[in-house]
Amino acid sequence: MGRRRRKTTPKRPVRTIPSIFNCPRCGRNAVRVELNRNIGQGTVHCGNCDVQATITITPLTEPVDAYGEFVDICATQPVTSSKTPNSRVSQE
Ligand SMILES: [Zn+2]
Repeated sequence: MGRRRRKTTPKRPVRTIPSIFNCPRCGRNAVRVELNRNIGQGTVHCGNCDVQATITITPLTEPVDAYGEFVDICATQPVTSSKTPNSRVSQE
């Protein structure tokens, strides 16, 4: 009677999470996450393509969470870097 036991133990690799991530834009491993818990803001910045995003963080926010938000932002809207966003469309 071959009983199959499914082990559903989630393998969680315990390792220190680096605060350098892959850039969703340029693909380089150059995204640095800085969490300013004092002001409740995190800055995610790619040192390669210079894309940057400021996100709101909570005391529970980890760098990887901030990075996730950053990826989200990059996916949903064009993130401007050095250029000033000229997205002020005044419609009459
Ligand atoms: Zn980049």
